Amino acid sequence: MVKPKTEEEIELLRENAILVSKTLAEVGKRVAPGVTTAELNRVAETFIRDNGAIPSFLGYEGFPAAICASVNDVVVHGFPSDYVLKEGDIFTADIGTFYKGYNGDSAYTFPVGEVDPETRKLLDVTKASLYKGIEAAVAGNRTGDIGHAVQSYAESFGFSIVRELEGHGLGKEMHEAPGVPNYGKPGSGARLTDGMVICIEPMINAGSRGVYLARNGWAVHTSDHKNAAHFELTVVVRKGKAEQLSTFDFIEKEQL
Ligand code: MG
Ligand code: MG
Repeated sequence: MVKPKTEEEIELLRENAILVSKTLAEVGKRVAPGVTTAELNRVAETFIRDNGAIPSFLGYEGFPAAICASVNDVVVHGFPSDYVLKEGDIFTADIGTFYKGYNGDSAYTFPVGEVDPETRKLLDVTKASLYKGIEAAVAGNRTGDIGHAVQSYAESFGFSIVRELEGHGLGKEMHEAPGVPNYGKPGSGARLTDGMVICIEPMINAGSRGVYLARNGWAVHTSDHKNAAHFELTVVVRKGKAEQLSTFDFIEKEQL
């Protein structure tokens, strides 16, 4: 049994979620052709520290940066680098905060300039599949209901689900039980209860679902080197309807 969070804990997780959401937007404002992913990492780290928090990914199991910076065929866990983003790339920022003893964790895949229509569709479908998952994150359901909602939506567009990585509970630890897979059968998996805080994070490939680990032991690439997208939000499981803690509103307001 996963212990639900108290309302006091949920408020601290909400503070982290808002900070991580604003950090993603600060990064997003600067995503453009000609910018390096190392520069975007610095923007995020500065913003997190200026707000009195710690970038929780830095040093986590030896991870060398404040954010995961994953470009094109990198699904997750890319290192920020001197790589210069170019028109038509996609760039995923996955960002974690640690503040007042709790964690924040969210991710967004940004288009760099104009992307081709198939890539635009991959981003739209991956984000929409996350919201399908959130709709299933209600008390009484199981993690498999979330996975099924994400999978059936994304696969209906011909995209494929990365199965080696999954969402998770969030609290004092960055990764808590239960695991939240992006595929599954309705009615299977861990039961969801009121007050559980989870990160739902579809990782979806334009091509086949195969992935491999780079020699640096971190970056996860698509086996066919086609693009992958990753969107992540933190929600509280509630009766009837999940409550979103993190949000893409700060990003999408910038894009208007
Ligand atoms: Mg994350
Ligand atoms: Mg996560």
